[in-house]
Amino acid sequence: MTNTVTIPSNMLPEDGRFGSGPTKIRPEQIQALDKGARNLLGTSHRQTPIKQVVGSIREGLSEFFQTPDGYEVVLGNGGASAFWDIACASLITRKAAFGTYGSFSSKFAKSAQSAPFLEEPEIFAGEPGTYRLPELTEYVDTYCWAHNETSTGVAAPIKRIAGTKEQGALTLIDATSGAGALPVDISQTDAYYFSPQKAFGSDGGLWIAVLSPAAVERAYGIAKSVDLPGARRWIPSFLSLTSAIENSRKDQTLNTPAVATLIMLENQVRWLNDNGGLAWASARCARSASLLYQWAEKSDYASPFVADKNARSNAVVTIDLDERISATQVVAALRENGIVDTNGYRKLGRNQLRIGVFPSVDPSDVDALTRCIDYVVEHL
Ligand SMILES: *Cc1c(COP(=O)(O)O)cnc(C)c1O
Repeated sequence: MTNTVTIPSNMLPEDGRFGSGPTKIRPEQIQALDKGARNLLGTSHRQTPIKQVVGSIREGLSEFFQTPDGYEVVLGNGGASAFWDIACASLITRKAAFGTYGSFSSKFAKSAQSAPFLEEPEIFAGEPGTYRLPELTEYVDTYCWAHNETSTGVAAPIKRIAGTKEQGALTLIDATSGAGALPVDISQTDAYYFSPQKAFGSDGGLWIAVLSPAAVERAYGIAKSVDLPGARRWIPSFLSLTSAIENSRKDQTLNTPAVATLIMLENQVRWLNDNGGLAWASARCARSASLLYQWAEKSDYASPFVADKNARSNAVVTIDLDERISATQVVAALRENGIVDTNGYRKLGRNQLRIGVFPSVDPSDVDALTRCIDYVVEHL
């Protein structure tokens, strides 16, 4: 069972964390917990010091995404998975349409399918390794897809489907692993939502959504409608978007957040903005990703999984290995050398490596990773 390969230490990346979520947390973020924030840990999130952290995150993200006038940064507990249920309870009026092309984009569609007060959603299903956008459909009030399908390494375009705005429909984008790594024009979305443990290199547990005025208005309209006699919808308070909006406006959350997650997120948003914002971050991710794609295209045993070059993600890179080489063995040998979380998405079931190249990851470490993979494959 022991296939130990020892990679020479001068070949190793400085940091061996290449996960697609949770992702590398920069040492400075961890130091921020001890240095600046030592007196904040273990204190009330309803008092000024923590509210200032939340305020800085909200302002910093507005700057980072260059949000159009009227858009708001809203947050709450539960991660992106909770936001799917919030959207079902608080944003979809009657019927949604979904583009599904992997595990994450499919999960939101399943939530909507099982909500008894919603109509059966329209599903536009694509093959793993490609993307498929929802299409303009009569009576649909909400269109949903994922910016970056983390399970397959596919990035989809973010542009409103023609005719949907005229229909009064909203566009909800799961940006969990795309936000912060891929360019975006927020005006093309009504909710661009994500968790902080991907490109923002913090811990999990929160959801953050950049909401348009139309999304806010929709949430208030739906909240009002449940008070009417005969309303069939139940909005549990944990899934109430209006309550999250009102708490966020006060730089708070409905219930207690993980303060450490907020502090590390605040540090990352500042670091990204100080370095040049989304333009800088997305260029850095593109550089890292192209190192991997180019290496794979030249390699005689590896190749990019996503055939369409325009759909290849610059945040999560998926690389198929020739069947002569076991990805499981390569991943295990890398882990023994401190290079972790390079495994493919389990349910996709391919002989594949999946590498997170988020802004925190140094492109020079990605370069070193390609040489380490070659070394392991030669010596297994
Ligand atoms: C990780 C991920 C999620 C789930 O995030 P949680 O914080 O675990 O709820 C949802 N969507 C996408 C695209 C993801 O990558």
